Amino acid sequence: MTKNLKLAPSRRDFIKFVVAGSIASGCPVDRALLPVPSSPPAANVEGEHFAICHQVRENHTFTKPDAARKVDIAIIGGGMAGLSAAYFLRGKDWLLLEKEDHFGGNAYQEEFAGQAYSTAAAYDFRGSDSDQLAKEIGLDLLPINMPDPTIDNGVYTPDTWRSGISQLPYSKETVASFKKFAEDMLKLDPRKDILELDSKPFTHITSAFAPEVTKWWDAYGPSNWGALTKDTTAYIGVSDAQYLIKGEDSTRVILPGGLGCISHKLVEVMRPKYGERMLGGATVVSVVPDAHEVRITYMHEDRLTTVAARLVLMCAPKFIASRLVAGLPDDQKQAMQRMRYAPVPMINMIFDKQIYRKGYDNWCPGNSFTDFIVADWTIRNQPGYHPKYEILTFYSTLRESQRYLLLEESSCKEFAAKVLTDFQKLLPEFHVDPIEIHLYRRGHAMMMAVPGQYTKNRMIASRPMDRIFFGNSDSGGPESLTTEAVRISQAAAEWANLTLSGKSAAAADVAHKALTKVSF
Ligand SMILES: Cc1cc2nc3c(=O)[nH]c(=O)nc-3n(C[C@H](O)[C@H](O)[C@H](O)COP(=O)(O)OP(=O)(O)OC[C@H]3O[C@@H](n4cnc5c(N)ncnc54)[C@H](O)[C@@H]3O)c2cc1C
Repeated sequence: MTKNLKLAPSRRDFIKFVVAGSIASGCPVDRALLPVPSSPPAANVEGEHFAICHQVRENHTFTKPDAARKVDIAIIGGGMAGLSAAYFLRGKDWLLLEKEDHFGGNAYQEEFAGQAYSTAAAYDFRGSDSDQLAKEIGLDLLPINMPDPTIDNGVYTPDTWRSGISQLPYSKETVASFKKFAEDMLKLDPRKDILELDSKPFTHITSAFAPEVTKWWDAYGPSNWGALTKDTTAYIGVSDAQYLIKGEDSTRVILPGGLGCISHKLVEVMRPKYGERMLGGATVVSVVPDAHEVRITYMHEDRLTTVAARLVLMCAPKFIASRLVAGLPDDQKQAMQRMRYAPVPMINMIFDKQIYRKGYDNWCPGNSFTDFIVADWTIRNQPGYHPKYEILTFYSTLRESQRYLLLEESSCKEFAAKVLTDFQKLLPEFHVDPIEIHLYRRGHAMMMAVPGQYTKNRMIASRPMDRIFFGNSDSGGPESLTTEAVRISQAAAEWANLTLSGKSAAAADVAHKALTKVSF
């Protein structure tokens, strides 16, 4: 759903605003998670399937028609997890049900005048499971070849955590504190101390350093794993600090469109042969297992339909799974509902001239947005490439208490205007207006990497049932990663094949190994 909006009168009158995405992409919208003071604003939600998702949350009992179709495997959710599971199971009897009219979930690319940009997931790593899948379907993700700069106090600092650390625009004492932080992080062994580190917040470590260190991670953390330093598990904080300080970010790869380029290509590759099995605009409202099959009821074109499947791969996030699946053990349901998800208004600004080519992912601590990315970075120097527009993608994870801002278009527009104001204040060359601002709202975009989620809560939340495998990137971690969605789906496909051939012990082993593998 797309709407064009006008800004308040100013020179910004000439900027066109486009608000897209249903807040219900985190269907069902959980109003219990919207701490709006007294009376919440009237829901002016543009989600195509908001009404139906809301009913799911309210535990509405839907009339479940008799099964109209039987399949071996139903795959619920057509993000990277569901799409890749379908790809790994090609040739088998599956049906993929996706709530939105398009596939891709949080890895979804859009285009402006033929130029692709990301509406969430940014980049991958050479050799990761998703990079290997991309190769297999004919995509060559290109190297980013540049460490991340920081822009703060009106100064651009290249290579923040290595050569740039001495040039950070802070006092001598603060720069020394950044250096000490880097030295101290390298002395830790997160793999060995995973349980201890995953039991405490990252501030437990960062609070010993200058406040600017925490301020920097308060930008990096929300953008990468949805949480401020105080809510972040020290395990991921230390692991990511080491990754940046050691220069392991040099393996990053991507194409314009972010990781949406992979979901886009997967759809292109599968649709000609399996189009009939890939159903968009199909919102699952209940999943009821019994001894012989699982009955999945979904709303499609205003009609409820039931399909009976021998197995289900639940590739929607856990807060949704917890509401759809009947018969979940109490501890598992509670673990699913304990998982926290950050709201994200994804903002793309389209300029009709080139304004910035000095860094791919640029960290801007202390602003309404955390970082911005140059959409066509990896192809910018290709011979013959002369883009008409420059597209910058702004990441701006909200606090959970701000989720309600996404409900109304007017507050989305105000937020985007604030991001533009903050951006233009950063450096003089940014004082240029875009011709269009696109905002894609994602109500529950990213699983938050809070203490205990990776080593404890996830293990309970993601346990398979007899006939249901719980996929989605939130079965992996330690942060929400596309490669984890793909890795878990590879295991899900293997689990399904083994279960269908009666090898339940081997299937259980595959599921157990997939969950217990430490990926970071
Ligand atoms: C702002 C942001 C930046 C990110 N950056 C990166 C990055 O740089 N690198 C990286 O690797 N990862 C990144 N990620 C994470 C990455 O996007 C996710 O890990 C990945 O896309 C998750 O895929 P998924 O299929 O597991 O889940 P999702 O993308 O959540 O897909 C779930 C799907 O299920 C559908 N669904 C929900 N309810 C129902 C229902 N009732 N019936 C039918 N369908 C339903 C949804 O519509 C959705 O399409 C980022 C995420 C965000 C939000």
